Parts: sequence; structure tokens; C-alpha cells
Amino acid sequence: RLDGAQDGDDWTTRLPRGGRIEIRDVAKSFGNLRVLSDVDLTFPSGSVTAIIGPSGSGKSTLLRTINHLERVDEGTIEIDGTLIGYHREGDTLFELDEREILKRRIEVGMVFQNFNLFPHLTVLENITEAPVKVRGLGKAQAEVLGRELLARVGLADKADAYPRQLSGGQQQRVAIVRTLALKPKVLLFDEPTSALDPELVGEVLGVIGELARSGITLVIVTHEIGFAREVADRIIFMEQGRVIESGAPEQILNRPQHRRTADFLARVL
Ligand code: ADP
Ligand code: MG
Repeated sequence: RLDGAQDGDDWTTRLPRGGRIEIRDVAKSFGNLRVLSDVDLTFPSGSVTAIIGPSGSGKSTLLRTINHLERVDEGTIEIDGTLIGYHREGDTLFELDEREILKRRIEVGMVFQNFNLFPHLTVLENITEAPVKVRGLGKAQAEVLGRELLARVGLADKADAYPRQLSGGQQQRVAIVRTLALKPKVLLFDEPTSALDPELVGEVLGVIGELARSGITLVIVTHEIGFAREVADRIIFMEQGRVIESGAPEQILNRPQHRRTADFLARVL
């Protein structure tokens, strides 16, 4: 039995309770290029947030700072009150060592546009590797969990396939399962359907939509405005590294307060 699971349990109810993400006054540059400015956002536990905005506006960089794949130059990011990437001594922040960063990063699952599965590992091996290595789960137990999660996304028969034998939509569902197998408190999706043929987008959005109702904290960068309207509690519009406005989907999409939001929506809708 996994985590005291009962037959017929909804898989998503066995994810950890969603973490609260607090981003305070974050700024970030690459050389002379300012990519994030004055970003101050709270993602409450269990909230579902869609981030939209033009290419180059800093959406990916913002997501990557949340699990410390990118360092911030200013400001702090905390999940459930724990600093990401740093520890505090008095008024000074010190970067954590690599080991501790990796440990905390487990709490923050991230799914990328291009799936990033290991090509030389089977689907099941892709899923079980990290839980065994990082979470210390037994191999057999990890395989039971992996097969169960695969079944939940309709891929029970693909456990022994290699990524190249799967469609893009199937690979992305495997990538989602691989992330879920680590039981993150927070799930970040960076344009998870942008690399997919149009007919495969729905199967991936279906899985994400189910996760959105699970109580995990979910942040998704997406150009799928209809999906954002349907599943998100809140939509954030970013441009040139700044949060221009944020609010309920109905408000942002139907009654944007800023000209720049309206202009962007006119281009994409
Ligand atoms: P978005 O995801 O909204 O398209 P990004 O966060 O990827 O935007 O990029 C924001 C800006 O930062 C872009 O101008 C991009 O070229 C630049 N950028 C992103 N990553 C790097 C990097 N590692 N080094 C230098 N510039 C980068
Ligand atoms: Mg991006």
C-alpha cells in the first residue's frame, strides 16, 4: 500500500497539500538585460494561476526562480515560509549548498515544453529513477507508484516503451507523472502544450485540469487562453519583466484594466 491508499482513492487526493509561494520584490538580470523587475506575488496554497504574456517577458525565468534553477538578484522566494535557495543568518542571506538546494527543489515539480525525458530509459525507469535516488523509495514500491500513476493518465500499457516510441502528448503525460511521483507541493508548467501538434493538446490539458482540482498549488505559463479561463483562479499578465496586472480570469480577459493587456489579448484571442 502506498501512503495508506485505499482502492478507489482519487490519485490526486494523495498529493501533498499545496504549498504557499511568496515572491517578494524579485529582480533579475542577465548581464545588462533586466528580465524581472519588482515582482511581488503570492500564490496561496492550492491556488491555480495562469501566467500569460508576450515572448521574452520573463515568464520562464520567473518560474525557474521558484525552484532556484535561476538565482534572483534581489528579493526572496519562500514556500510555506522556507526560503528557496538561501538561508538567513541575521539580516544576511547565504546561498545553500547544492545538496540542500536539490533537496528543497523536490518540493517544486516542474514540467517543461519539451518533455525532457531520458531517451535511453524506459517510461517506467524515467518515472522511478528520481523517487528511488532522491526520495529513497524502494525500487519495487516506486514501480507500483509509477504504474499506478501511468494508469491514471491512460498510459498503463506504455511502462516498458522508450520515449521515442511515444507521441508528444504521451511523452508529456509521462513527464507529468515523473514529476508527480516525487510528490511535490507545487507544480510549475512552462508552456506544456506548446511543442505539441494541435490534436494532442487536449489530452495533456485534460491531465493538468484534473491536477488543478487536486489541491496542489499550480502555476502554468500558457498561451491556451481558453484553458486558463476554465481552470485558473487567477491570471497574471506579464510584460517586459513586470506583472502588469492580475485578477480573476473573467476580469483580466473581459475587462482588462491596462491597455497593454488589452493589446496582447487582441493579438492572441
Ligand atoms: P518568456 O518565457 O516570457 O518568453 P524568458 O524568461 O524566457 O521569457 O526570457 C526573458 C528574457 O531573458 C528574454 O529576453 C531572454 O532572451 C532572456 N534570457 C532568458 N534566459 C537567459 C539566459 N540564460 N541568458 C541570457 N538571457 C536570457
Ligand atoms: Mg518561456
